[in-house]
Amino acid sequence: MSDTFTDDGRPALEGRDITAGYGASDALNGVSIEVAPGELVAIVGPNGAGKSTLLRVLGGTLRARRGDVRLFGRALGSYERRALARLVAVVAQESAVAFPFTVMEVVLMGRAPHLGPFRFESRRDLAIAHAALKRFDLLELAGRPLHELSGGERKRVFLARAIAQEPRVLLLDEPTAFLDMKHVSDIFLRFRELCAGHRMAAIATLHDLNAAAAYADRILLMKDGRTVAYGNPESVLSEDNLRHVYETQVYVGRNPATGTIAIFPGRAS
Ligand code: ADP
Repeated sequence: MSDTFTDDGRPALEGRDITAGYGASDALNGVSIEVAPGELVAIVGPNGAGKSTLLRVLGGTLRARRGDVRLFGRALGSYERRALARLVAVVAQESAVAFPFTVMEVVLMGRAPHLGPFRFESRRDLAIAHAALKRFDLLELAGRPLHELSGGERKRVFLARAIAQEPRVLLLDEPTAFLDMKHVSDIFLRFRELCAGHRMAAIATLHDLNAAAAYADRILLMKDGRTVAYGNPESVLSEDNLRHVYETQVYVGRNPATGTIAIFPGRAS
């Protein structure tokens, strides 16, 4: 089967009316989301809202009880595992590798779904891994064992591995947790470049509402496994919506430098 899909503006990945959960209880109830090539969509909401669960359903590691997930118009479950890995990369909240691999070795693992029958990396695979390291400011750490790195450095290694996979769809669970301010904005700019330049589609769960406001095309705001609002940042991140969802006072203003909306906890004086 070919991995080539026409980019006609239709969703790369869509979840329709998803209900899913663990054991007897539902963690998600009738949630819909979609992302088109070139877009970055953020999922926000308080702890336990169901953000990670939705990402698991969209990535195919948790089966929906109701509703369906389509990747380039086809049921997600109909893809063969390797074909799926060539199309979708997932960066989980806590990624780990079992052995003391170096940073370069971990990033090269991203090439696995593309390797031929003998599983040797080609010069092209090495060049792609090198470019991914460079993109995430990791070249100086390439020879270091992963377990010697800080939490933020490790996070960037797993992002680089996902990018080396050259996915059409990138699913990110809290991609900027552990990162300092400079790396947060650098990483979102890298994602935006990949979305714009490579027509990649990205969905990220985020705690940082200001990052969502600044970088996402659309935002899904969730609470208790349900959709509260879904649309552009300005309509979703309203004071009323945020007060209801987070059960605290918030003030929504504007970032004077960029003009994007900015969220502050607490009341305006
Ligand atoms: P969020 O990512 O928004 O913090 P989650 O999707 O992790 O929310 O969790 C949604 C609900 O599902 C929570 O009530 C959580 O306790 C429950 N949950 C999450 N993962 C599991 C799991 N592996 N087993 C059982 N319950 C889980």
